[in-house]
Amino acid sequence: MSKTIAITNQKGGVGKTTTSVNLGACLASLGKKVLLVDIDPQGNTTSGIGINKADVAHCIYDVLVNDVHPNDATVPTNIEGLNIIPATIQLAGAEIELVPTISREQRLKKSLQLVKHKYDYILIDCPPSLGILTINSLTASDSVIIPIQCEYYALEGLSQLLNTVRLVQKHLNTSLQIEGVLLTMFDARTNLGIQVIEEVKKYFQQKVYQTIIPRNVRLSEAPSHGQSIITYDPRSKGAEVYLELAKEVIMYEQAAR
Ligand code: ADP
Ligand code: MG
Repeated sequence: MSKTIAITNQKGGVGKTTTSVNLGACLASLGKKVLLVDIDPQGNTTSGIGINKADVAHCIYDVLVNDVHPNDATVPTNIEGLNIIPATIQLAGAEIELVPTISREQRLKKSLQLVKHKYDYILIDCPPSLGILTINSLTASDSVIIPIQCEYYALEGLSQLLNTVRLVQKHLNTSLQIEGVLLTMFDARTNLGIQVIEEVKKYFQQKVYQTIIPRNVRLSEAPSHGQSIITYDPRSKGAEVYLELAKEVIMYEQAAR
């Protein structure tokens, strides 16, 4: 059984990319076969896992727009079991170029169907918008993980996101589910963080992951070394919590079966 999960929130800087890279790396370290799909034109997942964009022959843009087979755009990472379809700045044009194409919302779904059987998990790192790239991601996915930063205004914009999820459920992907809500960048020294946790739990209830990601400087350093947290600093708090999250994701899937 393969599961495709979009990591999404139209707000930037909430931990989507950090979660994609590190959850992907941790799932792979637990023996799962994982494909990361970078669908953000900024390509932070791509560089964050150590792929030099200048060396990329085919990126997700070619898969979406030029009908390149996803296998031909997939590259291995330095973690066993973890592959990636990278993104380069070329992808910035896709929002416009896809507009006149037939079934433009289904393109990622159709492509990933060709390779799904090879993976236990496909994680899609979404851009900070609700445009055609995010719609493609939601259409291609079984479920979404929504990272929420433990900051003031944390819930702002969420109704818009949930509305988009509902629209996709209605028109494009009836089986799309909310996999879980992940609280990120928690700072135990502030009351604010605790208030946000309470508020998010009131809203999403049992959908909120037990694992809460604290602020951890090692997590913010790792991408500049092109590494996930488990290779950059396996003993850090950041590595510990993302491993916990990976176990939680696996556990929920086993419970659902
Ligand atoms: P998004 O993909 O949603 O825009 P990122 O994952 O890129 O968000 O995170 C935004 C910034 O915050 C990045 O510089 C990242 O390194 C940093 N960051 C993310 N999560 C943490 C964390 N738990 N602790 C410290 N820094 C973090
Ligand atoms: Mg990002």
